[in-house]
Amino acid sequence: MEILIILALVVIVVLIVGYPLINPERYRDQGVRQETLPEYDDLYGARENVFDALRDLQFEFATGKLSTGDYEQLKARYEVQAADILQQIDALKPKKAKPVQGARTCPRCNSAMSAQDKFCTKCGTKL
Ligand SMILES: [Zn+2]
Repeated sequence: MEILIILALVVIVVLIVGYPLINPERYRDQGVRQETLPEYDDLYGARENVFDALRDLQFEFATGKLSTGDYEQLKARYEVQAADILQQIDALKPKKAKPVQGARTCPRCNSAMSAQDKFCTKCGTKL
């Protein structure tokens, strides 16, 4: 009887500990995915779709299912879509921080630095 209780406890512990390994998607959704914007997911999904379409198109052209004219026309259309999506992704990316106006910059390499720095943190020039 005791052995059954111990076995039941072991099974319960294994299930609780092992559950995230069995079903990692659920836990990933709660953690990492919240950090990406929904727009990003949409755009990356759209980008994958266009790339897939381009790959399929090349395959169909290579196997002779498409005429050269159709291939060129569809390829141009997908390439315009891909460029548009990539531009939208670039637009969503955070811009590099510009040095604050009036803040000190290195006279040699022009990188930003704080008022108490005695040497440039990038090129080592004495200030
Ligand atoms: Zn410097």
